Amino acid sequence: MTLAQGRPYLAIPGPSVMPDRVLQAMHRAAPNIYAGALHDMVASLWPDLRVVAGTTANVAAYIGNGHALWEAVNSNLFSRGDKVLLVATGAFGLGWTASLLAMGVQVECLDFGRSTPADMGRVEAALRADRAHEIRAVLTTHVDTASSIRTDIPALRAAMDAAGHPALLAVDCIASLGCDEYRMDDWGVDVTIAASQKGLMVPPGMGFVWFSEKARAAGRNAGLRTPYWDWTPRADGAEFWQLWHGTAPTHHLYGLREALTMLVHEEGMPAVWARHAALARTVWAAFDSWGAGNAEIALNVADPAFRSHAVTAARIGPAPNATRLRDWCETRAGLTLGIGLGMAPPGDPAYHGFLRVAHMGHVSAHMTLGVLATMEAAMLALDIPHGPGALAAAAGVVARAAGA
Ligand SMILES: *Cc1c(COP(=O)(O)O)cnc(C)c1O
Repeated sequence: MTLAQGRPYLAIPGPSVMPDRVLQAMHRAAPNIYAGALHDMVASLWPDLRVVAGTTANVAAYIGNGHALWEAVNSNLFSRGDKVLLVATGAFGLGWTASLLAMGVQVECLDFGRSTPADMGRVEAALRADRAHEIRAVLTTHVDTASSIRTDIPALRAAMDAAGHPALLAVDCIASLGCDEYRMDDWGVDVTIAASQKGLMVPPGMGFVWFSEKARAAGRNAGLRTPYWDWTPRADGAEFWQLWHGTAPTHHLYGLREALTMLVHEEGMPAVWARHAALARTVWAAFDSWGAGNAEIALNVADPAFRSHAVTAARIGPAPNATRLRDWCETRAGLTLGIGLGMAPPGDPAYHGFLRVAHMGHVSAHMTLGVLATMEAAMLALDIPHGPGALAAAAGVVARAAGA
């Protein structure tokens, strides 16, 4: 039989779970885009977007997904033939590399593979080797959503400073913003990107670039810039239409207003970060128990210091056990888990030994505990060997985090 009737839970790393309040805020007639309430409401978004990213930098907004934001950064900073250093810890770092290469930028990609955090010593050495300072920017992911590795951005900044290199630092926070602690200004970041459908809890379709004055100056003569992607009128435009280079994403903006009210004004960013950290530790505790004495179940990232608080990548082997488990959770229990992205080539049977559990967006303890209990039910139903005590361990983490 199936027990999937009821409210479904999409626990994949984007689109994330959206609050009903966000959906309800979007459910309205089309507003006037030329004057009035929409303009006032949109003016209130920019200060809150700065709080989320920990910055006083410029903000440019785009109608587009994460892939669009990579091109926004590429086009505003670079010319054909420019050199950049990309620090990759998973499929999304490689995706940004591909986007740069396709636009004619020369990429030195330091690829740390699928399970290993970036080695800042190697980053520093690569920058020191660039004596002529031809590298225009160091680009990386804060969280690579495929591997769930979280890069230590202050350590990356320190490596750049130790090398005495003047390159810009640009960080893809599409998976992490609104989940993992992030402080653009304190950490010395010049460019940050994020999209609406992950930690910001809004449907896919909007993205943001925060850029410092240093980045604006460095990109002033960028040869790849085109009118649509130009971040200057989007950040500074005196006319409302310039903020979008055309019609505004009206309903997304109402959703975003509600989401920012919840994140910034009601819960507060430190509490948002603490919630995601506690839920991440809850997931890790379950995996540690399932994998005890069973080498087939393991988290992808060994060191907790380098694990994302937004998403957890793991192996449930041997293949195809991860795919069998995902299928069972979806069809029998109404829970959709993430595929294992970039862990094995498409078409390789090994692909079916990996999955991801998302804990990003509007998620609570009961939702995460429900995910873990459902996964354990799948293991029992499918005879997937696993160590005991996972649910008690997960409940213990929640109990300690929430307190009495
Ligand atoms: C989701 C994601 C992207 C791609 O975003 P799309 O909206 O799917 O284009 C890029 N980088 C990171 C880190 C992501 O998590």
